[in-house]
Amino acid sequence: MLNRAMELQEKLQGYRRDFHKHPELGFQEYRTSAKVSELLASLGCRVRQNVGKTGVVGELGQGLPIVAIRADMDALPLQEDNQTNYSSQNPGVMHACGHDAHTAILLGVAELLSKEVSFPGTVRFLFQPAEEVADEEGVSGAPRMIQDGAMEGGVGLVLALHVSAHVPVGQIHIGAGPSSGGVDSFRASIIGMGGHGARPHETVDPIYLSAHVILALNGIISRKVNPFDAAVISIGSIHAGNAENIIPNKVDIFGTLRYTKHSVQEKIHSEITKAFDVAKALGGDYQLKFEIGSPPMINDENAASLIKQTAIDMIGTENVNLPPNGLGAEDFGSFSELAPGAMFSLGSKVDGDEREHHNSRFDVDERCLPYGAAILAETTLRFLRNGGF
Ligand SMILES: [Zn+2]
Ligand SMILES: [Zn+2]
Repeated sequence: MLNRAMELQEKLQGYRRDFHKHPELGFQEYRTSAKVSELLASLGCRVRQNVGKTGVVGELGQGLPIVAIRADMDALPLQEDNQTNYSSQNPGVMHACGHDAHTAILLGVAELLSKEVSFPGTVRFLFQPAEEVADEEGVSGAPRMIQDGAMEGGVGLVLALHVSAHVPVGQIHIGAGPSSGGVDSFRASIIGMGGHGARPHETVDPIYLSAHVILALNGIISRKVNPFDAAVISIGSIHAGNAENIIPNKVDIFGTLRYTKHSVQEKIHSEITKAFDVAKALGGDYQLKFEIGSPPMINDENAASLIKQTAIDMIGTENVNLPPNGLGAEDFGSFSELAPGAMFSLGSKVDGDEREHHNSRFDVDERCLPYGAAILAETTLRFLRNGGF
């Protein structure tokens, strides 16, 4: 399978560069999904468009079991600083997370599997919009596709990969258990009563109130959450006032939280609410709204070990390693909540050069593309031919 995938190097590189040149933001992947649909159809796939707004679902084969494989297609609002003949043509938009590579790789998987004489069951290709952003209702691409039936019919295994700027080409990271954090955000206003800076006793100073609230927020993880449960609360934005001698009416505070267990998520929500209650105790008031993001991504034990074994057979034990722990967010967790699933990190490190994700100089070593396609295709075939794990 790896040899067959290697023969697709030029082709996959061509797809990836084309997507890289024409990046589109979340829920605006019109050109990308049109191209994907066209290529899937040319491989003999049944194609459904506009799944979860700008997503595409392709299918090969018939009946059960079903293996779903997901690639995200969206780019980021960032001006590219690389000068290549495939640099972004859309000002202020860039594939700086590698989703262009994911899209090209999944097209490669479709091509490899379309050339198989036969296999039992169905392979479903999920080309997902908007992994990086949510729509006006706070919903990102994965749950939007699920609402449109992307996981219906009894999916037995769901797979994905993410390129990694930290892992050398020809290696992967895969492990069972939590592989990224659940993420929610909160938007709050601490409400006081503004007035003259020289007469604070006639005001309710929301900046003073917010100082207490921020301390209370920062005590939650260290004092209220079991130290063996990974969790984070970070305040990323705070805004109030615009003159040195005016006490403002309110302070806006926005933050993010991460967790790996739903019980911890509930605990953190209730403790954040209590922290804002401090503003009330001191004579002010507050408004607080949580935006529920992606659930934690938990790699299923069987799915992770199937990927691991397949990869070991293909690239050798020494190239298959455990991932470092992290609480980054990834909305693939919405798919893997509905079926046994796992995501692995695919080495795409550009040798001797820092090309960090979400950086304007991000790039991948394109030799990673066939590795990704081969591991996904072979894992899928093993599951289908075995009738399960
Ligand atoms: Zn990203
Ligand atoms: Zn990403």
